[in-house]
Amino acid sequence: MRIIMLGAPGAGKGTQAKKIAEKYNIPHISTGDIFRANIKNETELGKKAKSYMDQGMLVPDELTISLVMDRFQEPDARNGYVLDGFPRTIPQAESLDAALKESGSQIDHAINVDVPDEAIVKRMSGRRACVNCGATYHLQYAAPKKDGVCDHCGEGLILRDDDKPETVEKRLGVYHDQTQPLIDYYAQKGVLKEVDGTRDLEEVFGQIKKILGE
Ligand code: ADP
Ligand code: AMP
Repeated sequence: MRIIMLGAPGAGKGTQAKKIAEKYNIPHISTGDIFRANIKNETELGKKAKSYMDQGMLVPDELTISLVMDRFQEPDARNGYVLDGFPRTIPQAESLDAALKESGSQIDHAINVDVPDEAIVKRMSGRRACVNCGATYHLQYAAPKKDGVCDHCGEGLILRDDDKPETVEKRLGVYHDQTQPLIDYYAQKGVLKEVDGTRDLEEVFGQIKKILGE
């Protein structure tokens, strides 16, 4: 099964992608997580990506596309994946299409997690992320067991620099300009599915399971 998660930053793509990956036994591929791991490890890619991410801008297509194509070569991605945060532009979607065509495969579902902008800013200011393992929490809706500590690995939780309100506004603008057109792109291919992302985490997952088959 090949799945794309669409939606604004903070809509809940990562939260749902992790649940999908676990239930359907496919890898969760998050370009944001891969960039953040590179920043943490101070790689060349990380250095390049950081300057864009800190400003709420997209990392250039060239860098992002080659990163995803490399990831697809790993054995676990052979039979499917859930893509979270990729594609984010039409050229990225076209490159993905070309790669799929070459391997004789296709996207089964592009799931749009729909959340209005007003709710997004609130979601992002409450998001806390583990710098070590990438787990995500929310102070109000998905709190860790112990304040400021990751349930999975015990490391400290942070408010991502790009989740501060001024950067969130910028990211929403970028989303509307460059990523939202993908909703029509996948609708035209007949694979677009919509879920109401304003509902509780488990309810959203319930809607997704109906789409994917329990
Ligand atoms: P994205 O991957 O789309 O940027 P996340 O999955 O990281 O978004 O979710 C953003 C924040 O909102 C996180 O703090 C997460 O815990 C919280 N969240 C996700 N889905 C819901 C939901 N359905 N209701 C309330 N909070 C949610
Ligand atoms: P995310 O974790 O998906 O919210 O992504 C965090 C940041 O990483 C984004 O604001 C972008 O700067 C960058 N990024 C992640 N995925 C992509 C992508 N597909 N194309 C360009 N930039 C990306």
